[in-house]
Amino acid sequence: MRNTTKRAYVLFALIAVFFIGFAILAVRFGMNGEKWATDVHNELLATTRVPSLYDKSTITDRNGKMLFESDKDKGHNWSADPTIRKATLHVVGDAGNIGSSILKQSKEIILEPTYTYDLVNGLQVTKVQEGDDVDRDIQLTIDADVCKTAYQAVISYSAGANRGTIMAYNYKTGEVYCLTSLPSYDPKNPPKEPESGTYYNKALSSTFTPGSTFKIVTSICALENGKADYRFNCNGVVKVGGRDIECYDKTKHGNLTIQTGLNQSCNGIFSQLAVELGKEKIAKTVNQLGFTSTVYINGVQTGKNKFEIDEASVHEVGKIGMGQYRTEVTPCQMLMLMGAIANNGKAVIPTLIMDDPTNGQINENIHLNADTAATMKTFLRSNFTDYYESHSSAARDSVIKSLELCGKTGTAEHIDKEGNANDKNHAWFVGFSQREDFPVAIVVCLEDMPATAASGIGNAIPAACEVLKAIWNAHIVQP
Ligand SMILES: [Zn+2]
Repeated sequence: MRNTTKRAYVLFALIAVFFIGFAILAVRFGMNGEKWATDVHNELLATTRVPSLYDKSTITDRNGKMLFESDKDKGHNWSADPTIRKATLHVVGDAGNIGSSILKQSKEIILEPTYTYDLVNGLQVTKVQEGDDVDRDIQLTIDADVCKTAYQAVISYSAGANRGTIMAYNYKTGEVYCLTSLPSYDPKNPPKEPESGTYYNKALSSTFTPGSTFKIVTSICALENGKADYRFNCNGVVKVGGRDIECYDKTKHGNLTIQTGLNQSCNGIFSQLAVELGKEKIAKTVNQLGFTSTVYINGVQTGKNKFEIDEASVHEVGKIGMGQYRTEVTPCQMLMLMGAIANNGKAVIPTLIMDDPTNGQINENIHLNADTAATMKTFLRSNFTDYYESHSSAARDSVIKSLELCGKTGTAEHIDKEGNANDKNHAWFVGFSQREDFPVAIVVCLEDMPATAASGIGNAIPAACEVLKAIWNAHIVQP
């Protein structure tokens, strides 16, 4: 009897321990159940590692022409045309050297599944499929053949320098038809020791002395500050701040307005005008035209332009007015300024990807009123009709004449870090077609040409005309 009682007590004790343990478990389950179910070791919740675009994607031009493709079976392939590979390298990219390229911009993506958890139903997992959030077929806005024409034009017109960039876009939609940057290389055979500047997208990231293309900015400043009727008598040399500023070849341009000064690219009128406008007004216009800001083009931030005027002497303010001194701009900045003048004051931001949600955005940093834009359009149109057409056979071409081009050339002295000019010049052209059915703007910057050979009219205009004709002949512009 005694033994039976003892056993019963032991049994009750065991049952009690069991219920206490169960109660503890239930409480802890309620408190920590979600944590246990979603432990990192739970296979249901494994993350999916999506290969980068470089390892799995197809990139085509606007016409569906393959520029890059890669997957596990095929490996990495580029266009079959070696010149197209070089001409489109800075947009498409390679194994990772070109920072601004589409391939480099796409980082490796890790996709995590989503789940819900509750005490009754436990864990409910929505598995992710590879590619759910990643568009692997990218169609670019560029035309590969037009890029090839542009690449060859830089080589043809840069007197052996083989450096520079050409970028052209639709100033109403923002679609970039052409963007090429030299020096370049074949992504199938990357060089061990590339030339300096090879990895830069010169149109978006590099800055150059703008030279006479900057006279557009000085003109806008004059128009907006009551000096639309400015007159100047050019004797070939003018004293500004006690030192001479010469016109090219000391040409005596005679009596000038802003328009005829632009036509002949007189240095005297724009340096004197800048001094009379003064630092504050020039700095304000530069700021209003977006030169002190950057924009993002499909995730790539444009290079920072350089503009310093506060410490400049009177003579240096004169130099600023004609696009020299320490001013440096990205070719893309000049392209957007052309876009603003062409498009009634509104600068559409360039875009490289078809049907991207950001397409068609306006650059809110550029403030140009529609009246000033219209006057500038008249001035820049007269550069062609009253000057370039009589000085450049490329500008007289019948197709080019039919495009009703507006624009400005420049020959800029390359100023080094110490503020001295070296013997290399940049040849510039910035411009656009004023035709409603051909809203195309273009920038050409042929970098570091031998100073004796560099000329906006002789080199940059013919290069621009070849590219504009290629765009025209490709029938890709939808008005
Ligand atoms: Zn002059």
